[in-house]
Amino acid sequence: MCTSILDDPAALAETIADSGAASTPADESVVADLVTANRILFREGVLDAFGHVSVRHDKHPDRFLLARNMAPALVTKDDIVTFDFDGRALDANGRGVYLERFIHAEIYRARPDVMAVVHSHSASVVPFGIVQGLPFRAVCHMGGFIGVCAPVFEIRDVAGDETDLLIRNGMLGAALAQSLGDGNVVLMRGHGSTVVGDRLRQVVFRAVYTETNAKLQSEALRLGPITYLSAGEARTTARVIDMQVDRAWDLWKMQTEGKV
Ligand code: MN
Repeated sequence: MCTSILDDPAALAETIADSGAASTPADESVVADLVTANRILFREGVLDAFGHVSVRHDKHPDRFLLARNMAPALVTKDDIVTFDFDGRALDANGRGVYLERFIHAEIYRARPDVMAVVHSHSASVVPFGIVQGLPFRAVCHMGGFIGVCAPVFEIRDVAGDETDLLIRNGMLGAALAQSLGDGNVVLMRGHGSTVVGDRLRQVVFRAVYTETNAKLQSEALRLGPITYLSAGEARTTARVIDMQVDRAWDLWKMQTEGKV
């Protein structure tokens, strides 16, 4: 028999005091692209009411920009908040912030090469974090950046078996960053995935094609044994396809503006 669990309305957001640190504002184009990234990722089915995308601050490499707690499709430039690597807001001004901001904070801390991060629950990827002994791998040239095996973060290994599966503090964020290692994608068992990139447009591209690769891999598994990309093919395709990121960004941006 099922039992009813009352939702905690504060579970996915919290209000925190600003750190008081001074901050030079990020370039307007960085903020504008982050707004666009939110809208693209919603339109492409990576984010829904949940999930988030961030970019490293262009003037303060030890900070990052992330929307306040809200649905990504509704984000405007006035909703962008600056955070430090301890997950403290500098300019939230009492607005609610994402509980899972520690995903972004700890990855930026651990990976100086990472300039942008997407965390999502995109549905086709989730099964690969659940099914035992089934690695998530690049199956097509557009997914080469995934490589030969994306790691799976198991929260039970660091926090026991009674958590809500959320990355709600720096310790969990650091453990997730450790699972990610030097890769581009980490799956989160029973939860979702996190994708990183060396620029915002690239991470948007990668998040979209992480979902596409998952759909293709699932479909192929139903049909028969899969020939995956080799490590060398994954590296080469990732490098070549990366030169096409702007083409996808330009199209997706126009779609969010209703121009195509
Ligand atoms: Mn989440």
